[in-house]
Amino acid sequence: MADIIKLLPDHVANQIAAGEVVQRPASVVKELLENALDAGASQIKLIVKDGGKALIQVVDNGEGMSTTDARLSFERHATSKIQKAEDLFNLHTKGFRGEALASIAAIAHVEMQTRRETDEVGTHLKIEGSKVAFQEVCVTPKGTSMSVKNLFFNIPARRNFLKSNQVELRHITDEFHRVALAHPSVAFYFYHNGSELFNLPSDNYRKRIVHIFGSRTNQKLVPVEEETPIVKIKGFITKPEFAKRSRGEQFFFVNNRYIKSPYLHHAVVAAFEGLIKSDTYPGYFLYLEVDPASIDINIHPTKTEVKFDDEHTLYALLRSTVKHSLGQFNVAPALDFDQDPNLLTPYGFKDKSAVEPHVTVDAGFNPFLETGNKAVKSFSYRKGSDQNWESLYVGMESKLGDETTAHSISFESDTITGSIFEDENELSESSTTTFQLRRKYIITTIKSGMIIIDQSRAHQRVLYEKFLKYSTIKEAVSQQLLFPLTLSFSKLEINALKDIEKILVSIGFVFEKVEGESITITGVPLLVAESEVGMILDQLISDYQQQVGEENFSHTDILSKTLAKTLSVKTGEVLDKQSQLALVNDLFACKETRISPFNKPIYITITENDIDKKFI
Ligand code: ADP
Ligand code: MG
Repeated sequence: MADIIKLLPDHVANQIAAGEVVQRPASVVKELLENALDAGASQIKLIVKDGGKALIQVVDNGEGMSTTDARLSFERHATSKIQKAEDLFNLHTKGFRGEALASIAAIAHVEMQTRRETDEVGTHLKIEGSKVAFQEVCVTPKGTSMSVKNLFFNIPARRNFLKSNQVELRHITDEFHRVALAHPSVAFYFYHNGSELFNLPSDNYRKRIVHIFGSRTNQKLVPVEEETPIVKIKGFITKPEFAKRSRGEQFFFVNNRYIKSPYLHHAVVAAFEGLIKSDTYPGYFLYLEVDPASIDINIHPTKTEVKFDDEHTLYALLRSTVKHSLGQFNVAPALDFDQDPNLLTPYGFKDKSAVEPHVTVDAGFNPFLETGNKAVKSFSYRKGSDQNWESLYVGMESKLGDETTAHSISFESDTITGSIFEDENELSESSTTTFQLRRKYIITTIKSGMIIIDQSRAHQRVLYEKFLKYSTIKEAVSQQLLFPLTLSFSKLEINALKDIEKILVSIGFVFEKVEGESITITGVPLLVAESEVGMILDQLISDYQQQVGEENFSHTDILSKTLAKTLSVKTGEVLDKQSQLALVNDLFACKETRISPFNKPIYITITENDIDKKFI
């Protein structure tokens, strides 16, 4: 039989390699920016059109290339950065595989203009699908300009796979951030569809971070610094009180290269243990310097994963360094600002003996007071007084007292639609007895037995439906702020805010001004405390940025979910009797009572029969 193995032609091999290196426009951006850095540029301009689908151009003032090098640079495994295998263990450049340009040229239309300082004229080269379409001498400034058009023009399946321009732009921006954060001394400019998104002058690390993420970031940063024989660590962490519910600003750089490392991430999070709520994440910008021989970057084509020789030691060092900074800068006590310290205890501590919570109770507070507007009848579920804490047993005696209180309140609830009740009186008659168990569940009785309600999920459901309703009835109710509130955001965040401004208004935010790097707010939705506005907007923006453009995405839905999650009563909060009852009644006035907005069960029922069986 004839031999059947053949070497693939170069253009086919390049296309295959491209599949690994170029997943989306952002990958091209990363490779081109890194090449510009490797060429020693001090100024780099990134120009993008239509989320990178129409154009990605990087212009640098680096060392440029000779005509021969310009042509060679598009060959596979053509690199000026390493020559022999040993060089792999002493890398000081971003690139070394010599694959990026060959891969990009295999799947796009690429045009390059380049000139070295010593050459009088430069080279102008066009390559389309690995074939040289055009080569000429040209007049061009020192450095290199590389434009990539019509990405995936010859692989329709990949092109169709691309997301909306907005989503692709977000990925590009992420890459841009990573490169710009790693190289603060280089000036970067970034334009999208003709408008300037970033203009970052040469700066130090702190100022670069603040330039990118907005002036508000400055006050959040705590410096980190440590030098040991195996690693130098510097950078910043964000103060615990600024921990976010979503992963956002978390960056590791190893020898000025952005890397992903769940293991090191864990080390940082571990250092924050006990200082932040368990479902929030700290921000960090950590720059590690290690001996290049002690790491392997060549384990993934995109070079974002690194293998360390001594990961365990690194973990321990990182954790203690971050801990030390948190202690040294005395950020922990700052947490105590009028917040229930119990909230700061991670739920994992639940089995330790609890310190008695001290919560001041507003005796005159009546959660059932009409607010004047029917559509927004709302309760804020309050933390209860101490004696109600885990009152499952002691509560038995006080049942009578509780009933009296409950009956004395005239409470006009929407019709109860909870399907577990055979007749709608079932709950109202017996639900006057509620208990809170382990600051997590509300237990109440029904005719057939009892139900155990997850307090946080129940409240999420109640708030979620409320916000959805606000946004549809078009009569959002807001509370006027005594003084307008001005908050600053980064440019990108302001852009995102503009996108969702209408929806925010529909749920009760009143904006006086949204421009430049700040916004002024004169009204907020009911239930939102003024002190929480910044945190809530942060959360809304980051959720929006994460979700935008994804399929089946409804802005209102996502924002209502975010608000519900952010504002809901949490596990660990003590609720007083009235609040427990109000929550139960509100829940069963919801359209959907069984699952939370995040598709988790809200309650379980245990029938008398179930209980009887246990006693056999
Ligand atoms: P690598 O960066 O891994 O070496 P690339 O395919 O990205 O591989 O680039 C191939 C070569 O082209 C580089 O080694 C470098 O010599 C040259 N090159 C690419 N971009 C530039 C640039 N902007 N300025 C100067 N030289 C460049
Ligand atoms: Mg490269």
